[in-house]
Amino acid sequence: MRNFTCTCGNTLYFENTRCFTCGRVLGFLPETLTLSALEPAGEVDWRALAARGDSYRQCKNYREENVCNWMVPSDDPHAFCRACRLNQVIPNLSDPRNRVLWARVETAKRRLLYTLMRLGLPLVSRTTDPQRGLAFEFLADPATGLEFADHSGAQQVLTGHRAGLITINIAEADPSAREGMRERMGEQYRTLLGHFRHESAHYYWDLLIRGTQWEKMFRDQFGDERADYAEALRRYYEELRTDWQSDFISAYASAHPWEDFAETWAHYLHMVDTLETAHAHGFAVEGRTLRPPVSVDAPRSQRDAALDMALATFDELLGDWIKLTVAMNALNRSMGLDDAYPFTLSPLARAKLRFVHHLIAAHAT
Ligand SMILES: [Zn+2]
Ligand SMILES: [Zn+2]
Ligand SMILES: [Zn+2]
Repeated sequence: MRNFTCTCGNTLYFENTRCFTCGRVLGFLPETLTLSALEPAGEVDWRALAARGDSYRQCKNYREENVCNWMVPSDDPHAFCRACRLNQVIPNLSDPRNRVLWARVETAKRRLLYTLMRLGLPLVSRTTDPQRGLAFEFLADPATGLEFADHSGAQQVLTGHRAGLITINIAEADPSAREGMRERMGEQYRTLLGHFRHESAHYYWDLLIRGTQWEKMFRDQFGDERADYAEALRRYYEELRTDWQSDFISAYASAHPWEDFAETWAHYLHMVDTLETAHAHGFAVEGRTLRPPVSVDAPRSQRDAALDMALATFDELLGDWIKLTVAMNALNRSMGLDDAYPFTLSPLARAKLRFVHHLIAAHAT
């Protein structure tokens, strides 16, 4: 994630809604991936100072619900921003706890979308393609109220993906519920953002790999996805194999080639976003400032993104990532926290990451 600069010179961060120095209201402009200071220009319109004073409105979820900070160009008739118009179902807001969880869900979703846009990946909404387009539904387990401890109920909401529709159980935005789940599943890492990144992989598998020239290369690298999916998952949960480290990036990746791809894709997005953040803050490893995974010069054309991806070779990215994660883990231990990136990447896992890198570079527009 980049840092942004206010008109007053103060540094701004992606989630900010107001500049702490000059007090200006802020809004994110998805067209240029810029967080801009705003000045009022009428009842609902704002002038975006980082965009030559162009006219914008706040997303309805920004103005009315305060769970978004993205803007809509004034000449766009849509009430919602490009991130919020992907929502098909949101939680029942008559429960105040749901509102808190929903805000966290939206924050993670915008991080995912930023990286997808940054990489120049195609994003087809369900409005454009009702069969396979991308949409989100954020659901709460029925009748459990605030008690997320019981996950054995038959009606439990399953976080997952189906033909472009990504479902997130909002209990994943409750840290104690999520940590309990992580422990029960024997996972090293479980985050809300990680769920978004993982599920987006299933959408992109359908969009970029299914029935394309990438399908054969995918099978060579990850195995044949035509293996019975339900049976593979049943076996995974029953047997909980412990010998996955040499072949897979995580235990869950060993369940089925689709999950292997989704876990690898999620790690690639962790890598790209975190390296961009490290670059934005001037991090250096072994005396050399970390390179950005994509150019941070703004404004940039879509074409530049594709070029940058080709230029930042995978070996350089991975080399930087390994050094950075060693340092991040050491820093976390100094703070008495768990490792930020509790993974070691086997040669096979690295080869799978390389596949994702080439897949994304080939589709960056
Ligand atoms: Zn300011
Ligand atoms: Zn919005
Ligand atoms: Zn999955």
